[in-house]
Amino acid sequence: METRKKKLIEVALPLDAINRESAREKSIRHGHPSTLHLWWARRPLAACRAVLFAQLVDDPSSHPDKFPTEEAQKKERERLFNIIEEMVKWENINNERVLEKARKEILKSTDGNPPPVLDPFCGGGSIPLEAQRLGLKAYASDLNPVAVLITKALIEIPPKFAGRSPVHPGAQTSSQSHGAKGLAEDVRYYGKWMRDEAEKRIGNLYPKVKLPEEYGGGEATVIAWLWARTVKCPNPTCGAQMPLVRSFALSTKKGKQAWVKPMVEGNQYRFEVRTGEGKPREGTMNRRGATCLCCRTPVPFDHIRAEGKAGRMRQRLMAIVTEGPRKRIYLEADTEHVRVAKKAEPKWKPGGELQGKCRVSVPLYGMNTFADLFTPRQLVALTTFSDLVMEARERVHEDAIKTGMTDDGKGLDDEGT
Ligand SMILES: [Zn+2]
Repeated sequence: METRKKKLIEVALPLDAINRESAREKSIRHGHPSTLHLWWARRPLAACRAVLFAQLVDDPSSHPDKFPTEEAQKKERERLFNIIEEMVKWENINNERVLEKARKEILKSTDGNPPPVLDPFCGGGSIPLEAQRLGLKAYASDLNPVAVLITKALIEIPPKFAGRSPVHPGAQTSSQSHGAKGLAEDVRYYGKWMRDEAEKRIGNLYPKVKLPEEYGGGEATVIAWLWARTVKCPNPTCGAQMPLVRSFALSTKKGKQAWVKPMVEGNQYRFEVRTGEGKPREGTMNRRGATCLCCRTPVPFDHIRAEGKAGRMRQRLMAIVTEGPRKRIYLEADTEHVRVAKKAEPKWKPGGELQGKCRVSVPLYGMNTFADLFTPRQLVALTTFSDLVMEARERVHEDAIKTGMTDDGKGLDDEGT
C-alpha cells in the first residue's frame, strides 16, 4: 500500500505573512471584489490562495529520497514558504511570473493532474476564484441565490469576454484588450451611467448636509440617516412618542467615540450628538421591553407590538452620518432632512408576505410584507436601480450590435454571445 504523502499545510505555514496580507486586503479600495459587491463573510483572497496551495503541495518530508535529512527538508520548506510569501502579496495578484511558479509546484506534487476544487458553500466566491487563479478547475454552489450570482460574475462570466474590446460609445477599439479588461471597462462605463442617471432621477431625495465650522465648513454627502422607531407611552400622564433604542452609541472606536444624548423636557425630547470624553446613557430597550425616555415607565413588548400592529409605530430622526475628510462625522437631526425623507413615494413595492421565523420576528410588530422592511426612500432607491438595470441592459445590447457583434438569441448561460 502506498503511504499517504504529507501535505505542506499539515506541517507548517508562514502564518505571519498570510495574516498580514489578509488583514491588508480589508483596506484595499481598488480592484478588490469587495469594492464591486458586498458579501458579509468574505474570506480574504490571500488566505484562500495560500491554503489551497499548501493543501496541494507536498511537505518535503514526503520525499525522503530527495530530501533525506531534516536540514534538507527545512531548506526546501523555506523555498516553498518564499513562494507563498510572494504569492499572498496584493501587488502580485496579477503577476504571472509569481503565479506560474505556484502553479508549477502544484503540478509537481500532483503528478501533473491536480484535483478539481469544490466549494459547496461558496458565499462571496473567494475560494473558487483563487482556485481558478492557481490553474485549478473550480466548482462552486450555494443555497443563497445572491452568493451564486456574485460568484458567477466573479468566475464564470469574465472568461467568456477574454480578449474582447469594450463596446460602450467612445471606447478605444483599436487597442488589444488583455484578459477581461474590455469587460471591466464596460462595467465601469455602464455602472457610472446608472449612477449618474439615478442621481438625476432621485438625487433630490438625498440632500447634502452643511458641515459645522469645527469640521471645516462646506457640504458633505450623507452616508446614513439613523432613525429610531417610536410608540406612544401608555402612561396617561405622559403620552410621549417614546423612542425604542437599544443603544445610543454612534461610534465606540477609541479616540472617535460619539453618541446621541437625549435632552428631555416633560414629554418632549430632542437628540444631541456628543463626542470626546464621557459615554452614552443606557438604551431604552432591553430583553424585558422598553422604558419610556420621558417618564421612565417600563413598557412591555405587548404594548409595543399592539401599537405596531395598529399601524401607530412612527420614526424619529436621531442623527446624520457623513464621511468627513479623515473620519466619519455625526451630526444632529435636521428638520429639512426629515421633510425630504417624508417626500419619498415609491411607485412600486415588493408585496410578498413574510414567512417563517426571522431573527427578529417582525410580523409581531405589524410588519407583514417585504415592503414593510424598507423605508419609503429605500423603496424608491431600490426601484430606481432595478429599473436602471433593465435600461442599462438595453443600452449594452444596442451598443454591442453597433460594434459589429451579433445576437444569436442565446444567453451567456446557454453558451450564447
Ligand atoms: Zn412616558
